Amino acid sequence: MKTFEELGVAAPILKAIQEMGYESPMPVQEEVIPFLLGEDNDVIALAQTGTGKTAAFGLPILQKIDVGIRQPQALVLCPTRELCLQIADDLNDYSKYIDGLKVLPVYGGSSIESQIKALKRGIHVVVATPGRLLDLMNRKTVNLSLVKNVILDEADEMLNMGFSDSINAILAEVPPARNMLLFSATMPQGIANITKKYMNNPKEIIIGRKNEGNKNIKHIYYMVRAQDKYLALKRIADYYPNIYGIIFCRTRKETQEIADKLIQDGYNADSLHGELSQAQRDYVMQKFRLRNLQLLVATDVAARGLDVDDLTHIINYGLPDDVESYTHRSGRTGRAGKTGISISICHIKEKGKIREIERIINKQFEKGEMPSGKDICEKQILNLVDQIEKVKVDEDEIASLMPSIFRKLEWLDKEDIIKRVVSLEFNRMIDYYKDADEIEVVDERSGRDRKESQSKGNRHNRGAAEEGYIRYFLNFGKSDGMFPNQLIELVNKCVPGKIRIGKIDLLDNFSFFEVEEGAADKVMKKMNGFEIDGRRISVELAQGKKGEGKGSKKKEGHFFDRFDKRNKNSDKPWRRSRQSGRKK
Ligand code: AMP
Repeated sequence: MKTFEELGVAAPILKAIQEMGYESPMPVQEEVIPFLLGEDNDVIALAQTGTGKTAAFGLPILQKIDVGIRQPQALVLCPTRELCLQIADDLNDYSKYIDGLKVLPVYGGSSIESQIKALKRGIHVVVATPGRLLDLMNRKTVNLSLVKNVILDEADEMLNMGFSDSINAILAEVPPARNMLLFSATMPQGIANITKKYMNNPKEIIIGRKNEGNKNIKHIYYMVRAQDKYLALKRIADYYPNIYGIIFCRTRKETQEIADKLIQDGYNADSLHGELSQAQRDYVMQKFRLRNLQLLVATDVAARGLDVDDLTHIINYGLPDDVESYTHRSGRTGRAGKTGISISICHIKEKGKIREIERIINKQFEKGEMPSGKDICEKQILNLVDQIEKVKVDEDEIASLMPSIFRKLEWLDKEDIIKRVVSLEFNRMIDYYKDADEIEVVDERSGRDRKESQSKGNRHNRGAAEEGYIRYFLNFGKSDGMFPNQLIELVNKCVPGKIRIGKIDLLDNFSFFEVEEGAADKVMKKMNGFEIDGRRISVELAQGKKGEGKGSKKKEGHFFDRFDKRNKNSDKPWRRSRQSGRKK
């Protein structure tokens, strides 16, 4: 691998990029930089966003600017205002040690007068959206006759947005003797037309394979009934507690609806679409950039140019019409060498589309199993435990409170305290998921709905006790006032000595609890001799009881085996307080 210096990057730019932490060139930079530093070189680069393409074209075009000539010498065209600003920012950073070099972002929706004034003062690099640049050209306020480098960034997106005519009109005004570089994530026919018309024997650079998605992206689809799409979305969001992603919807209306529902259900979400004002869009994007927003619900067009490159997930709320949009959407995750997940929540009718995308991106989708309530609770709880482990403790601030905290909690041992802390979160989750709708996944072969539980062959094993523990059935439940504290107290009262208690699962009329193996016989014998309010306590081994039950079928199995299949009405959020915590 060559160094930037070996690629021909000059000292002032080297100094700037070193300060930015660029140690060695990325593959696209290694290919493009020396080529664009030459003359009359055209390049078509098929590169996903996040591959380092801004520096690939930015460094050579800046280096070739003659600062003494106060006229545009390089032109960058891009589809959106956001991308335009981002590129201009990057170019300013790269050129900070080149005295007097001026970069101007030119885009619609902002004052054309101030752009005209800046152009009059003298500009070397124009970064523009096609519509506004054409407007300035028509007013004869911009002169492209000295342009030596033209970059078309995200060319496929510009065509998708209907800029084809504007691009043609602009390119017709640029001198034919210049370097031209076209970046595109995909290569639709429209791009081939442009390259044929304006490029001269272009060098073709492919970072990754043609039309192929990023290798770091895992593609998963969940096939559900139309009416379950939203519930599936929530489960998926819950299953990834640290998700930071975009949910793509097809229409503005759907985008707004889904965002509204998510917000109402307590998720940290917001919407981004064309019906919002520019100020509203800026606000939402900024929130998302700063990670103050976890889920951005967006249309393809509105999300274009959003310069966020470390998304953990993108979610397709339904598949897009064309494969290019899919590649583009999924290309927003798995950037800069990180792994990402592209999830599609789709309907059986979209099966054909999945196969088509697989063929084009040359990668297979995984068929996702809808996470069960138990899976989600486990995931969330382990995440909470992880946060507890990693939280930074402000020793100075907390010191004065510690004596009273210790005094209050001294009767609890470490294990009890851990259980209680975790239960603060856990109880809220099980409250939601015990009553949550069952989501039926669709059997692709028959096209018929299949119960989620049936697809999980191992679900019934999940009632087994933890290693080293024995699981018991107790004939008292929540309706008898039996909660974890009471159960622990009961065991301690009935059985002499210290007994280690494991998992406790409380149901309305009965419970399950685990005790350490060594104490198992003792616990059963002792507890069975007691009564509560005149009712005999009955403690029995829970293992092997699945399928027999205690008098009624309801009492069978592990609590989690059943809790997500009950009442269909509840849609209560349990996340609201987490969200408010996160917002602080
Ligand atoms: P881009 O594809 O231009 O949006 O770049 C993706 C990210 O990679 C941006 O955050 C760049 O600042 C960063 N980047 C670009 N080139 C390098 C490099 N050679 N070394 C480290 N980071 C880079």
